[in-house]
Amino acid sequence: MQCNDPKCPKHGSLKVRGNVFTGVVKSAKPAKTVIVERILTKYVPKYERYKKTRSKIAAHNPECMAAKEGDTIEIGETRKLSKTKSFVVIKIKKRAVEEEKVAEKIKKDEEEKVKKKQGAKNAGD
Ligand SMILES: [Zn+2]
Repeated sequence: MQCNDPKCPKHGSLKVRGNVFTGVVKSAKPAKTVIVERILTKYVPKYERYKKTRSKIAAHNPECMAAKEGDTIEIGETRKLSKTKSFVVIKIKKRAVEEEKVAEKIKKDEEEKVKKKQGAKNAGD
């Protein structure tokens, strides 16, 4: 898919350099923007244990990527795009919607199996 977004790493003139992170889209409500959440473990020396922390990063979401809420994506560091954005979506690793569909299909299949089993039992009696 093509797009006319100048802030697109593939079709625009944007150069990705620096950090590359993987995270889950927490919100895709702002136009062409996604809020990516990463769950990290931080070592706490006092207790010699790890603590779960979160980090939220705003990233530019070009039209050709169209990342949606729940998607697992890869974001790359780039120049400052706006007050809060200096990252851009570079890859969609897993679509949330597709996953839901697969889960639904598995559920339906299992239900049918149970029904068939029950049906066989009733026929036997
Ligand atoms: Zn594009």
